[in-house]
Amino acid sequence: MVNNLNYIGGRWSEGSTGNRYEHFNPANPSESLGFTEMSSLGDAEEAVKVANTAFADWKNRSSVERGEYLRKAADLLEANVEEIAACATKEMGKRIVEMRGEVLRAATILRYYAQEGTRKIGDVIPSSNPNNTLYTVREPLGVVAMITPWNFPVAIPVWKIAPALVYGNTVVWKPSQETAITAVKIAEIFEKAGLPKGVLNLVNGSGSLIGNAFVEHLDVKAVSFTGSNAVGKTIASKAVETGKKYQLELGGKNPLVVLKDADLDAAAKAAVEGCMKQSGQRCTATSRVFVEEAIYDAFMDKVLGFVQDIKVGDGIQEAITMGPVASKNQFETVTSYIKKGLEEGATLFYGGKTLDAPEYNGGYFIEPTIFENVTNDMTIAQEEIFGPVFVVIKVANYEEGLAQANDTIYGLSASLFTTDLNKAFHFAKNSEVGLVQINGETGGAEPQAPFGGMKESSSGTREQGTAAMEFFTAYKTVTITTK
Ligand code: NAP
Ligand code: MG
Repeated sequence: MVNNLNYIGGRWSEGSTGNRYEHFNPANPSESLGFTEMSSLGDAEEAVKVANTAFADWKNRSSVERGEYLRKAADLLEANVEEIAACATKEMGKRIVEMRGEVLRAATILRYYAQEGTRKIGDVIPSSNPNNTLYTVREPLGVVAMITPWNFPVAIPVWKIAPALVYGNTVVWKPSQETAITAVKIAEIFEKAGLPKGVLNLVNGSGSLIGNAFVEHLDVKAVSFTGSNAVGKTIASKAVETGKKYQLELGGKNPLVVLKDADLDAAAKAAVEGCMKQSGQRCTATSRVFVEEAIYDAFMDKVLGFVQDIKVGDGIQEAITMGPVASKNQFETVTSYIKKGLEEGATLFYGGKTLDAPEYNGGYFIEPTIFENVTNDMTIAQEEIFGPVFVVIKVANYEEGLAQANDTIYGLSASLFTTDLNKAFHFAKNSEVGLVQINGETGGAEPQAPFGGMKESSSGTREQGTAAMEFFTAYKTVTITTK
């Protein structure tokens, strides 16, 4: 039993429904990581109430002081990187090497937003009346809710919590049940950093109960959500009904286009790593690869070289280069997509099987999988698989590659590999995504730059960098008239 699951008003408590949720290690599902007690609507209500009370004081502190708490949290994350990374690896299977990187990235994000506390929060604007001083100031919104997924259990919550706090909001947070234990570790970091009571509140529990309660609550002024399109849509309509600001970061079906003039080694490496990192469970993972006919065979030879080197296993071991998928649910979804691909007539270039030998301990392991003879209208080329699978499609030329890359409901990230400057700029301009990479992996992102998608990948808002200020504050326009 994992006690002290919720952190509400500076106090740790168990959930209060009496329902328990068991956590397993996806690399070895016979290893139980314990139970967590699910929270009730009363727990969610209490969290909003204390966050609302804490807002009165928090918003009136200087942003420089608020930033200091983030800096302390960054120090503590760095000091506890091994413990937190190992916890998350056990909980959702991301290999330890990648998980350490994620924790350190979260520390970088905290430092970035700590520094934001010292930067300008408004402008002086010329008035048509010479006696007026006209200026803007950014003000916090109030209580903001964060609803987060399991695939980046540390970085995603931190990239929402850090800007929310530094700009003066108080937070209620509902992480994925799949990563409840890691979420507790993150809340502990903020507690140890000395954050005043009620400023950050963690309520673990089910999305349809606790997440929904936050979304419907009239005292919650904004909701920042990262997760699936289906849940995102219901959140958006409820946010509109209850008059809140909302931000959705959703799925992707990210293309990588390889032209005949490209560095094929770099392109093949980016395709394989861009897909297989985190066993394909990144919203920015490469999932469709379009290759110019003329270099198709040469490119696929290089892909084979990289994919053959992948060592699948329990990612708690340093030498492993691809871990399991995160849960039984993920395992079933990904394997059903592989089946579907074969049914629709695609062929396997590599992998496609689950790994069932005794040394895999019944874990949720799937071979890195690459499909060929795919057309862009197949299910595996259109739906987000969220697993270690990508499809390769031959195209006649750049124009066809671009058209097919854009032929999707999603618009998160896209890559082009080329040495042709004209095509590079053309792609940057005409690719219908929020994140473009020329000669880089679809997954590349830096915390000081805006992050988010177009089309159905996002609500059109952006996270990270100074874009976060747009979401977590509202402008106040002030005119002062003097004689
Ligand atoms: P999910 O099933 O949509 O869940 C996300 C969060 O929403 C969880 O905390 C979940 O709680 C909660 N939730 C579920 N139903 C809800 C409801 N009715 N009201 C309020 N909250 C609710 O997504 P996931 O499976 O965790 O994550 C995978 C998805 O996230 C993929 O589609 C991926 O592309 C996307 N993603 C996008 C980005 C990006 O930045 N664009 C980044 C990472 C991941 P419980 O599940 O605990 O019940
Ligand atoms: Mg889910």
